[in-house]
Amino acid sequence: MKILVARIPAEGFQYEGTDPGAILEIADDPFVRVEGDVRYDLSAQCVSEELVVRGTLSVGLGLRCTRCTVFFSTTVRVSDFLRAYSASKDVDSVDITADMREELLLHIPGFPVCGEGCKGLCAQCGADLNKGSCGCGTGERPSPWTALDSLDL
Ligand SMILES: [Zn+2]
Ligand SMILES: [Zn+2]
Repeated sequence: MKILVARIPAEGFQYEGTDPGAILEIADDPFVRVEGDVRYDLSAQCVSEELVVRGTLSVGLGLRCTRCTVFFSTTVRVSDFLRAYSASKDVDSVDITADMREELLLHIPGFPVCGEGCKGLCAQCGADLNKGSCGCGTGERPSPWTALDSLDL
């Protein structure tokens, strides 16, 4: 998104709209899928020779659950976007796309989980335990005391 500095009135200007999700440049990411446009709601104001931009960003993403590896849809939000740019008289426009991308990518959770109750995959056979148990047992490791109990001492 480009902000035309000369068009901003003294009291500032509100930008509300969308940019294509492609600005995130994560088309080939095996863990993240873009599922919609990037929405922005930003205020821009020129303060002396600086352009100050602040507001919120959001985008719909598909993230791969780190427990069960299935993609789930979520919205990543940036509620505190705040950047300042040089806006001296020879600056016509400021492109904030790279900063929008950086902020949104920073707000993607490092270990996304599709839901608190996600049971993940069976450590032995790899089955998705959310779809039912796999026959490997309860997943509990046998305690060494169980073996001792069965010994007739
Ligand atoms: Zn999951
Ligand atoms: Zn299993």
